[in-house]
Amino acid sequence: MPINTALVSIGKIARDQHIPAIENSPDFTLTAAVSRNAKVEGAQNFVDIETMLSAQPDTQLVSLCMPPAVRFDYAAKAIAAGRHVMLEKPPGATLSECHELIRMAEAKGVSLFVTWHSRYAAAVADAKEWLAGKQITGVEITWKEDVRLWHPGQDWIWQAGGMGVFDPGINALSVLTEIMPNAVFVKSAVLEFPANCDTPIAAQVAFHNPGGGPVNMVLDWLQEGPQTWDIAVETAQGAMLLQHGGAKLSIDGVLQSEAPDREYAGLYARMAALIEAGASDTDLTPMTHVADAFAIGRRKEVEAFYF
Ligand code: NAP
Repeated sequence: MPINTALVSIGKIARDQHIPAIENSPDFTLTAAVSRNAKVEGAQNFVDIETMLSAQPDTQLVSLCMPPAVRFDYAAKAIAAGRHVMLEKPPGATLSECHELIRMAEAKGVSLFVTWHSRYAAAVADAKEWLAGKQITGVEITWKEDVRLWHPGQDWIWQAGGMGVFDPGINALSVLTEIMPNAVFVKSAVLEFPANCDTPIAAQVAFHNPGGGPVNMVLDWLQEGPQTWDIAVETAQGAMLLQHGGAKLSIDGVLQSEAPDREYAGLYARMAALIEAGASDTDLTPMTHVADAFAIGRRKEVEAFYF
């Protein structure tokens, strides 16, 4: 029997990815939608999560798609009601609230999934396998996209807790931390804040890499024309290039694999496996790097941003 699922906050990612992924999953069925503004055809619609939780005791999974700054209360209520919970990335506003959710889920015996959709991009597993055991001599992450194209009119990303350019940048970090054979640590960062915003529009981050070779990341939200989501890794045994956010892999300039996007199908398959196993998946490493960059980064003020 498919697992009854409630989707909470019906915005861009809920419509673009979650609804189709649930509809196409053999493991889940959409029984509820919770939204202050929208309705989803085929599901029972609610305007608040408390009413949904009491009206649908058989809805076992609650999948949360609101911006991270306001996610904690929704997750806490769902866990307290004994439901499994899936968190969009970034998992929350602060690391301490994420740790509290992990503690609550453990205590309640429900599955908590801190999702990182980019880890399910088509070529990420191949990249990880190729890198295993290799001597890394350098890593360059280039994540340059047009905020006006990808986040039209989204004010929350510019408000404190919205993370600014780290909202997409954390995807790069989720891939980096998946494929690297060893842990890296933020060493220094420069964060560029528009004069009228609480969050950065660009960033340069340097990591200490105990495994050898520098690791650098450049994030830019004003990229027009071709968009770039690349991780280039130099090793003593050849050069690896992961492009399109992890969908395309080349080694020494030769294409190895490229496939269409199935990231959210992968996330829901993983959620089903976690529930089946009575387990959780709660890696906070990408978020820790973002928090470290904010903690030690040098702040630079740049031109004001307007959509
Ligand atoms: P969005 O469309 O701007 O907002 C999603 C929904 O969250 C809104 O439609 C609203 O739902 C609810 N919401 C917004 N502000 C709220 C507030 N202050 N309090 C309570 N609910 C609020 O954002 P999105 O692009 O879907 O992103 C949501 C999350 O998905 C973020 O964490 C983002 O990083 C992640 N994500 C986004 C993308 C993407 O391409 N956009 C890709 C991957 C992951 P209701 O009106 O239904 O209440």
